Amino acid sequence: MGRTGKILDAVLDRVWPRVCAVKTCARPVDRDRRHLCSACFAGLPFHEADGCCRVCGTTIVSKVQHDFVCEACAKDKPAYEHARSAVVYEEPVDQLLNEFKFGAAVWLAEDLADLLEGAVRAKLQPADVDVVVPVPLHPNRLRTRGYNQSALLARALGRRINRRVDERSFRRIRDTEHQSRLSGDERRKNLVGAFAVADARGIRGRTVLLVDDVMTSGNTFAHCAKALLDGGAFRVWCASVARRLKD
Ligand SMILES: [Zn+2]
Ligand SMILES: [Zn+2]
Repeated sequence: MGRTGKILDAVLDRVWPRVCAVKTCARPVDRDRRHLCSACFAGLPFHEADGCCRVCGTTIVSKVQHDFVCEACAKDKPAYEHARSAVVYEEPVDQLLNEFKFGAAVWLAEDLADLLEGAVRAKLQPADVDVVVPVPLHPNRLRTRGYNQSALLARALGRRINRRVDERSFRRIRDTEHQSRLSGDERRKNLVGAFAVADARGIRGRTVLLVDDVMTSGNTFAHCAKALLDGGAFRVWCASVARRLKD
């Protein structure tokens, strides 16, 4: 943003103060250029990294297996090397992400990128990332929604960790059913062959950091990672703003 933009922002904040985006809060926002107040931001349900599976990042509750790999990953290892998340998908994260994804609240991107950046710096090694890639939307869905929420996050993250962002080389080649409408078994089948590397030049031999808004079962990350490896990536790490915990 230029100097004029900053001045205009400051003036608008005086005339029309930003109110915290958390519905139950309504306090004025005290963080520069953000839409969550500091109290709400600090009170978010952060996802702890201690005692989690080295691969999928799930908190290991029952049997702690050798080298901290959960039972699911030990049985069927995902194609990605690590998946990590910033916060747990519960109030008020669900409200914010719903507005961001379906309600055109694209102005939340920087607040959400704050979370993503924090998780990537704390739980992965951003210096070893070559390229940041968003989980792609099929062109049909991109047309109806108007934007890819994961691409907005990837752009903001790439800027912050100073890494290249590639929104073109990796594509969704099949328009799949919404994962949320399917059962566990259908979900696994739904994404087979849904993604592909369309241009390998920026992917081959690279450490790819794959970005999404929410991680649920990890299926989307796993299928994307497999397609990226098939397309020549050296390894794939995954980061999401939020994670849905299993019941
Ligand atoms: Zn607040
Ligand atoms: Zn695991």
